Amino acid sequence: MTAEIIDGKAFAADIRARVAEQVAQLKAGHGITPGLAVVLVGEDPASQVYVKSKGRKTVEVGMESFEHRLPEETTEADLLALVAKLNADPAVHGILVQLPLPKHMNSDAVINAIDPAKDVDGFHVSNVGLLGTGQKAMVPCTPLGCLMMLRAQLGDLSGKEAVVIGRSNIVGKPMAHLLLGDSCTVSIAHSRTRDLANVVRRADIVVAAVGRPGMVTGDWIKPGATVIDVGINRIDAGEGKTRLVGDVEFDSASEVAGAITPVPGGVGPMTIACLLANTLTACCRANGLPEPEGLTA
Ligand code: NAD
Repeated sequence: MTAEIIDGKAFAADIRARVAEQVAQLKAGHGITPGLAVVLVGEDPASQVYVKSKGRKTVEVGMESFEHRLPEETTEADLLALVAKLNADPAVHGILVQLPLPKHMNSDAVINAIDPAKDVDGFHVSNVGLLGTGQKAMVPCTPLGCLMMLRAQLGDLSGKEAVVIGRSNIVGKPMAHLLLGDSCTVSIAHSRTRDLANVVRRADIVVAAVGRPGMVTGDWIKPGATVIDVGINRIDAGEGKTRLVGDVEFDSASEVAGAITPVPGGVGPMTIACLLANTLTACCRANGLPEPEGLTA
């Protein structure tokens, strides 16, 4: 079997187009422009790239982008004051504080200071609790993107065996809750899981979010399974060059799987698309308007 390649780039472009269409309708029909505030503290180069890209894509879909770049030595009190200001600003519907924060800050305290209704990353404890209890939440962007791809690929997920590898708060755990919400039989595997290969072999759906290049090989995959590779690992490609690979060994897995996301071009582009979808959802909820269809969990 040769797997169907799930084109995350095209999927993400479609989501952004749908968001843009609904933003245009909000502006024309209600005079409302959704606004996303992104806060970056310090000079982390990867974070700077993400923030720039988020700002550009926010503007491209017709939303207002508010960027706040603060120096590394900013105090937690000053950051909390900015978060409070953004919470109170009616033009801001979504707030994202780029992680990681500098070491002298308590990330949990900062994230939990964001108004949960504006927490478009879905990391606030209230949103974690709402998702965990099957209530309407702001859902973390990367797992939301994975869920959207799975639904588009497989339709009804009910009764499917799903194995999520990784138990982080930003990917693994919310992914497992979302799959449970869609009535999958869910296992969460992690660094202490015994006989991981055999756990993965029973899965109709594999979501790998580990951060270990090519860890999941083709002989772990049940024939016909759908494989979502969240991992982003930069490896040495020789001659002083590097390249990005996932947690799944693409060549061997794509011989066995029914469908698979590539790295790059799979889950990666979905994350920002879902951030924009979440900002639109937050804006609709804040204004008592119906939520955008097909863009939420
Ligand atoms: P993390 O380091 O917080 O968590 C990794 C998880 O993998 C842990 O729960 C750990 O238990 C598990 N793990 C580690 N070694 C293992 C092993 N040998 N066997 C089984 N499980 C093992 O990472 P994260 O933040 O969840 O990110 C995971 C990967 O996804 C990284 O490569 C990251 O870059 C990528 N990522 C991609 C996106 C995206 O937009 N595509 C977003 C977030 C994270």
